[in-house]
Amino acid sequence: MPRRWWKKARKSNHDIFVRGEVGVIANYGFKDGGGEFYVSINTDMCAECADKPCVAACPESVFAVIEDDYEDEVIEMVKEHRKKIKYTCAPCLPTDGRRNAMPCVAACGKGAIKHSW
Ligand code: SF4
Ligand code: SF4
Repeated sequence: MPRRWWKKARKSNHDIFVRGEVGVIANYGFKDGGGEFYVSINTDMCAECADKPCVAACPESVFAVIEDDYEDEVIEMVKEHRKKIKYTCAPCLPTDGRRNAMPCVAACGKGAIKHSW
């Protein structure tokens, strides 16, 4: 069954949920003078992902499993990291541009997690 529009179109200035062609995308993060620092999660993919390996893979415990408005289990970013995710993720960011080596991205075989910077 196709999932409907996310009811919380905009929860706050830091959390933006949009319906795109590829599914519901939850963006967590912030922007400042240095740029935009958002982690995007395709929660439609999470709803189909039974084991949710990204949760255990993240050394900073950035992700948590929640039940969304459609009673699907999806991933969200825990509140404490949303306004500092640029710094939380800094130790994981590869210097050679190989984003697939980041623990969360490597654990997610579906390509549901993307970083904006
Ligand atoms: S591993 Fe990927 S698809 Fe599975 S819950 Fe995590 S982000 Fe979603
Ligand atoms: S880049 Fe590292 S700290 Fe950031 S969400 Fe992924 S695994 Fe967690």
